[in-house]
Amino acid sequence: MVRVILVGPPGSGKGTQGELLQAAFGIPKISTGDILRAAVRDETPLGLEAKHYMESGNLVPDSVVIGLIEERLQSEAASDGWILDGFPRTIPQAEALDALLAKLNISYDCVICLDAPDEEIVQRMLARGRDDDKEEVIRERLKVYRDKTAPLIEFYDRKGSLQAVNGNRPPEVVSAALKELLQFEQPVS
Ligand code: ADP
Repeated sequence: MVRVILVGPPGSGKGTQGELLQAAFGIPKISTGDILRAAVRDETPLGLEAKHYMESGNLVPDSVVIGLIEERLQSEAASDGWILDGFPRTIPQAEALDALLAKLNISYDCVICLDAPDEEIVQRMLARGRDDDKEEVIRERLKVYRDKTAPLIEFYDRKGSLQAVNGNRPPEVVSAALKELLQFEQPVS
């Protein structure tokens, strides 16, 4: 059973690595970004609420994404493990996740922080060209990351559950490092 949380700046490779881990371990990658983008595309009430935050590089309100994750983690599809990609992104989200996992009486194996230098990140995202991958929106997302998400690194490090992985390498090299790490990981209590 593998339960892992991926954190790191936008463009650090969480999505790509999440997909590879999903295939390798046969467990779902749960990505709040993917869920929100699908909602925007389908113009659901959630999508209509999330759209302007996403387009400007800001975070969708905590209460919205926490609700999404509560639903997904309690679904049948998540019963054999999961990879969280893009959640949590703030300290309140991390606290809500801890509370939910305690309620469900489960824990995660580890939190993996993928990192890469800002200039590499900007180049990767410009090459990707998603709707929110325009240079000024990218810069805003990086700023939001430093302000709101980077504090999670200390939050998880203090719990002893953080593993840092250099994301500034080819995807297959990063993937090999992650698989090796997860095989040896013990769940945190
Ligand atoms: P990236 O990792 O490239 O920034 P994501 O797909 O994870 O892309 O997220 C895209 C956007 O979706 C974010 O900029 C934000 O607006 C919104 N989003 C995704 N996850 C969260 C979250 N956990 N909390 C708040 N907003 C989120």
